[in-house]
Amino acid sequence: MYDVCVIGGGAAGMSAAIAAARTGSNVIILEKNNKLGRKLYATGNGRCNLSNTYMNFQKMYFSCDAHYEEFLSGVLGDTPAYGIIEFMKSMGILTHGRNGCIYPMSNQASSVVWAMTDQLKKYGVTVILKADIQSVAFEKQTESGKNSNIVIKLDKDVVKAKSLIIATGGKSYASLGGSDSGYNIIKELGVKMSELRPALCPFIANEDFNDIAGVRANASAWLFVDDTQEAFETGELQITDYGLSGIMIFNLSSIAGRAMSEEKRVMVRIDFLDKYDKAYIEDFIRTEEKRTILGVLNGLINDRLGGFLLKRAGIDTRTPVKELSDAQIKAVIDEIKSFTVEIKGLKDYEQAQVTAGGIALSELDENTMRIKKLEHVYAAGEALDIDGICGGYNLTFAILSGKRAGESAGARAEESAGDRMEGCAGARTEECVGARTEECAGYRT
Ligand SMILES: Cc1cc2nc3c(=O)[nH]c(=O)nc-3n(C[C@H](O)[C@H](O)[C@H](O)COP(=O)(O)OP(=O)(O)OC[C@H]3O[C@@H](n4cnc5c(N)ncnc54)[C@H](O)[C@@H]3O)c2cc1C
Repeated sequence: MYDVCVIGGGAAGMSAAIAAARTGSNVIILEKNNKLGRKLYATGNGRCNLSNTYMNFQKMYFSCDAHYEEFLSGVLGDTPAYGIIEFMKSMGILTHGRNGCIYPMSNQASSVVWAMTDQLKKYGVTVILKADIQSVAFEKQTESGKNSNIVIKLDKDVVKAKSLIIATGGKSYASLGGSDSGYNIIKELGVKMSELRPALCPFIANEDFNDIAGVRANASAWLFVDDTQEAFETGELQITDYGLSGIMIFNLSSIAGRAMSEEKRVMVRIDFLDKYDKAYIEDFIRTEEKRTILGVLNGLINDRLGGFLLKRAGIDTRTPVKELSDAQIKAVIDEIKSFTVEIKGLKDYEQAQVTAGGIALSELDENTMRIKKLEHVYAAGEALDIDGICGGYNLTFAILSGKRAGESAGARAEESAGDRMEGCAGARTEECVGARTEECAGYRT
């Protein structure tokens, strides 16, 4: 019998297990992958952007729940980045900041996984890798519900625990372990979920961008939903054959995805020369009257992009500037400053860094991360209906919500330590030690 069973060995699950084990609880992690923290290794291009000192819950996070800012405030507190920095330090990881983003001092995501797995070993957490969970059920419901244990059936084992933490993440990046299977467990337990959507992903445009695929530009972008401006981003825009990509687009994708699922019209307006106003660009174009308009534009933007914008404006690229009418020059500048494209979809989960939607926040108590209607079940991380923009916000939520869930589940175990001593000693060794040694000796692979 374990005090705490954590399903999912990602950022949230490992944080939960460490926090629970530090309270003295007897903890097990069930992870379906063949190693822990697989997604964590890939974060921040291998550098692991852990957190961010710029924090504004309303702007950095999204949820279907209207009260999500209060929820986040309860879970993350006033200074989430410092919560992360302290937690990392407690595991022997120093951090550094760049433009608000917090990274491990090593600039290696692997150092975070290494430190976390060493903590798991230090506190004697059992890990079962390649865990194939068949069912999750309550052993017995006493009248008060207080002493019911949770029984997790694996293909070859049965794990019993006093508390359960669900930290199964999202369905993005199947190649890094994302899947539906965690959601199936959540549904089986009767927990309400909001609709799932890919987020932090590219846009599919309602237009063919083959001619400009591969072009990158420093730009600003406005997102319109049914003609109302909903969001603004600036940064490097990457144009692909199917549409738009880059961090600035990823950051608009949660709002766009929700709007499209509600069958609303989504448009993006791009300014390819956000450093200059229209009057300046017009002067610039008119000073080179004998050159072709494409040649002049190439002093401002990528030549392929220039040709594409001129085609859109119905202007021959070889036309000398002096032969263009005022209306044509205005049309060119409008294309540069207000390039508007309709978005018909988002790229799928395999190209989405996170999954939006998930366990409804109303199901959870943010002070403990407990699922209110289930006495001893907690949840944390991306499995919840919270998604953040790029910049360390998703890991911040995963790690701090996991830590909170672990501390709460651990506190519960402390309360019932008496029961444990009486009823369950030895169960741990009998049931799970074999699986552990066979499948996951030295967890870090
Ligand atoms: C390429 C990439 C780069 C990213 N970079 C950053 C970044 O720099 N900063 C940032 O803040 N965020 C980043 N993110 C997002 C961030 O990685 C996730 O939001 C975060 O890892 C979520 O943590 P989690 O523990 O909730 O989920 P996960 O890390 O996905 O972990 C969930 C775990 O549960 C396991 N699991 C699922 N179902 C079951 C089951 N049925 N049984 C047993 N185990 C199960 C999975 O195998 C997985 O190991 C990035 C994401 C990607 C894909």
